[in-house]
Amino acid sequence: MENYKKLINPQNTIELIKEYEFSFKKRFGQNFLIDENVLGKIIRGADISKEDTVLEIGPGIGTMTQALCEAAGEVIAVEIDRELIPILEKTLSPFENVRIINEDILKLDLKTVTDKPVKVVANLPYYITTPIIMGLFESGAPIKSITVMVQKEVADRMKALPGGKDYGALSLAVQYYAEPEIIANVPQNCFIPRPNVGSAVINLKAHSDPPVYTRDREYMFRVIKAAFSQRRKKLTNALKNDGELKLSGEKISEALRELSFPEDVRGERLSLEDFARLSEILRA
Ligand code: SAM
Repeated sequence: MENYKKLINPQNTIELIKEYEFSFKKRFGQNFLIDENVLGKIIRGADISKEDTVLEIGPGIGTMTQALCEAAGEVIAVEIDRELIPILEKTLSPFENVRIINEDILKLDLKTVTDKPVKVVANLPYYITTPIIMGLFESGAPIKSITVMVQKEVADRMKALPGGKDYGALSLAVQYYAEPEIIANVPQNCFIPRPNVGSAVINLKAHSDPPVYTRDREYMFRVIKAAFSQRRKKLTNALKNDGELKLSGEKISEALRELSFPEDVRGERLSLEDFARLSEILRA
């Protein structure tokens, strides 16, 4: 197996693309990784061993998949672009522990593919980062961790804490399910073609139990979404204006008093614990 052609360098990537006359599709967010150093950081950060089943979203031409096949027990690679399937069949032919699935990850029910707990590893298509990550966590499928390349700004939002400009609904949703850690910042020249934004690799280690108590998770997320939908508004007004929650100003003010928050507090001051307690009171 040592003698197979590794894709992780610009020359081999360009050669293969030319051989198959492949043209990049912007609509699928195709920016292929060409930097070995970054690849190493992703694989180490994902902490993969031969005991692990890995789900890779968007294998592209198989650059990261090759390294995953070497490290993991089993790899499931889900790629939407039909044109990449024959390429993957060739570049992954040295490996017997990989399954290539030609599907849209947003339409795939993970439980039909494996019943094993999985570690997700991907250089994500940036246009659907949030639906992919939230879809995985909310699916209830056993996810141990998610280690992904995302837009730098999105990685900062995922790990932001209350008070800062990056803090919002995405920070709270991600941190409800997992503990985020940024593993690497990745410059544009590590990809072909170069993306027009900076990137970062983030590791989301799934909590074994949710870090806060809530009887109705969906209601809490509804409150969070409403709180940040009108960012510059006071929390009271943002919640009052939400058509679905149907809350009176009086009820919201009472709840804020109970939690010792000032009447004019903004959503960005509240922690996940605060939102859990607030939604318990509002829902009662
Ligand atoms: N993993 C490769 C690499 O690092 O070189 C490619 C990464 S590229 C940023 C994103 C990949 O996701 C592309 O191969 C693209 O075709 C694929 N993709 C885009 N949307 C997808 C979807 N909804 N489901 C599955 N794969 C998707």
